[in-house]
Amino acid sequence: MLKDKFERVIDYIRVSVTSRCNFRCLYCMPNTPFEWEPKENILSYEEMFEFLRLAIDEGVKKIRLTGGEPLLRKDLDIFISMLYNYKPSLDLALTTNGYYLKEYAKKLKKAGLKRVNVSLDSLNPQTAAKIAQKDVLKKVLEGIDEALKVGLGVKLNTVVMDGINDGEILDLLDFAKNKGVTIRFIEFMENERAYPGIKSVRSDKILEKIASRYKFKELPKDNSASRYFQTDEGYVFGIIEPHSEDFCKSCNRIRLTAEGYLIPCLFFTESYNIKEAIRNRDIKKAAEILKEVVKNKPEKNDWQEDEVSTRAFWETGG
Ligand code: SAM
Ligand code: SF4
Repeated sequence: MLKDKFERVIDYIRVSVTSRCNFRCLYCMPNTPFEWEPKENILSYEEMFEFLRLAIDEGVKKIRLTGGEPLLRKDLDIFISMLYNYKPSLDLALTTNGYYLKEYAKKLKKAGLKRVNVSLDSLNPQTAAKIAQKDVLKKVLEGIDEALKVGLGVKLNTVVMDGINDGEILDLLDFAKNKGVTIRFIEFMENERAYPGIKSVRSDKILEKIASRYKFKELPKDNSASRYFQTDEGYVFGIIEPHSEDFCKSCNRIRLTAEGYLIPCLFFTESYNIKEAIRNRDIKKAAEILKEVVKNKPEKNDWQEDEVSTRAFWETGG
């Protein structure tokens, strides 16, 4: 079992399979990065699998594939089936912008994927196009429907931005409720790659807005990044509030980037590379790095209100 210094059990890895993306979301990647990593620096699926197998043997129970946009990487279903076949009970999930989901949902489900989180920031085609800097809404909505149709578990993620989509909180909640899926509203996390001037809407304001239409109560906290709430009629929605004091208490995750960096905390700049160890087939060394990362997982993120993260969300997988 992987346990950090603060007695938190680490049983969840988020894997960014590519940094590339077909959207240019204002809060994440508004400008195309200066250059992309050359292909030889990216871990192959086989290399990622070698490392993840080790992590699974050490007790990892949940793997989420993310990016960049994970559906841009070829043969993702093959990678999913490698993981599934190794341990069918793994909680295998994907975070996607949904653009290619209609095309791939069936294949992904067949390969062993269980759940998908789709980013949906607006139901207004113009606002969605303004945020992603591309006309995306129709394809994203079709992707959500297809994922539901093939039987994947679906959740929606919405980054709430002041003056951009905060007027749609109730519409998005009703949309998710009518589809029978959970929506989670995420506070925008300030980072130096985001479009300048974007302002976060804090959880108290989001909850205030929801309270104008629904009565709800908070559910007991589990070890996910969200706080969950249930309306009187039984609908469950969530809030992700990285600005809150309690955010790190139950953190159970580490991250692996496409370039092989193992990252103990989204908001810390430290990282350790496993690429060399894996390419040299030095599994003992890779296991040592994994243990070192878990050991050095910080108690709390070092990111305060007036600070701006230097981490690129598209590299670390959000
Ligand atoms: N491309 C996929 C997507 O958009 O769902 C997966 C990668 S994306 C980096 C993962 C998650 O990070 C998304 O839900 C996205 O909304 C969130 N995210 C990205 N930048 C963020 C920011 N600055 N603040 C809060 N959430 C952010
Ligand atoms: Fe791409 Fe996801 Fe970042 Fe948007 S949030 S730019 S879809 S990686």
